[in-house]
Amino acid sequence: MSQVFVEDYIKKIILLEKQCGAKTNYQILEPFPLNSKDIIAIQTAAKKIAEFIGLHGLTFIIAKVKLKEKVGGHVELKYGENEVFVEISEDTSKFEEAVLATLAHEIAHKYLHINGVSCGIGPTHEYENEVLTDITTIFLGLGKLMLNGCECQNVHQEQDETVVSISNGTNPIRTITETLKVGYLDRTQLAFVYRLVCAMRRIPSTEYERGLSTDAIQSLHECNRHYGNYFNSRFHKPNVRKELVGNLQSVIFDTQLSLFNVDKNLLYIQGACVSIVEDFLEKIHKRLMELLLESQKMVDDNEYDPSLKFLSTTQLEQTITKLVSEVSDYSSETKRYQDSVAKLCEFIQAVENPFPKPSSDMFTIVTCRNDGTKLRLPKDKAHFTAKCPKCQYRFIADTSLPVFKMDSVLKKIFKSLLGRK
Ligand SMILES: [Zn+2]
Repeated sequence: MSQVFVEDYIKKIILLEKQCGAKTNYQILEPFPLNSKDIIAIQTAAKKIAEFIGLHGLTFIIAKVKLKEKVGGHVELKYGENEVFVEISEDTSKFEEAVLATLAHEIAHKYLHINGVSCGIGPTHEYENEVLTDITTIFLGLGKLMLNGCECQNVHQEQDETVVSISNGTNPIRTITETLKVGYLDRTQLAFVYRLVCAMRRIPSTEYERGLSTDAIQSLHECNRHYGNYFNSRFHKPNVRKELVGNLQSVIFDTQLSLFNVDKNLLYIQGACVSIVEDFLEKIHKRLMELLLESQKMVDDNEYDPSLKFLSTTQLEQTITKLVSEVSDYSSETKRYQDSVAKLCEFIQAVENPFPKPSSDMFTIVTCRNDGTKLRLPKDKAHFTAKCPKCQYRFIADTSLPVFKMDSVLKKIFKSLLGRK
């Protein structure tokens, strides 16, 4: 099957409907017999076709001439004259259906000319205008002539006088197949336009198939199979636009629901993980800040009385023991958080797409957990002291790349749960 330029054809039919739709009737001209060897008969046929599409009072003057190969006919377009000169190629005139199709095409040129409809003027638009002309024939009800006459074949037998048979001394018989194509669109492309125009005008198949050749009917059936969705009669129904738009809106709504579920999960991660961990970090860091400030004072020793000095150091030892135990509790609590968060990171990395692996840039902007200030730290640096410029809190930092390594057995189970290899 040849390529059907659906969008282009629809655009051209819209152009025709806008410019000439109101004065076009919905009838289709039935194919009629024509003695294509008789010039007068061709002139009469041209008049019949022209009057059918509403061009009255024209006189057609037909000439059979030798035209360039693949040119079936030619029409002279002049304003304000009743005579229309049409040339038909000698090759075309061998086929009566081809002559009718050629007349339909040339007269459609005249129709477009009179009505001032075109795809643009000048040689660059020539091809576009030829396609428009073929479409116009169908639009004006000449589709049957076009479908029957667009591709013609003539098979006959003749004696080959260049060869003499050895066995009986006569010339062998050979079969000659002559084929001819008319117009710019081929039968498949014409069939599409024809079906679309008939669907647009609610013309039933009993009417649009009547009088067509077997090949033409076959191409219409093929067209229905491939492009049936363009000819759907429900496009005539009043609410169909709403239904079509409804299809789009319903996939939009489905997508929005999925997006919201993603968002909800993110809220869960935020509420059940990030916020909890952040609160913990803040609470512990704030306490550690206090302890660091206190500890600086503890070192100061202004006591000269050796006894008092002894007693106060004994007290300090008690205090320090208590504080070390408090911080040890924080440390083991931190270990629990560390394990849980690391596990989550392992999962994220095992899921992979769309989650990237850790990269150095992810760890340079950190938060001072004592007062919430954002700090930029050096990239890829292990174990160093950072200091918040605002609250002066000093804390140990480490911006080197973390390694999240899931246990290989667990990873296997996890991946199979995700349905990935
Ligand atoms: Zn700070």
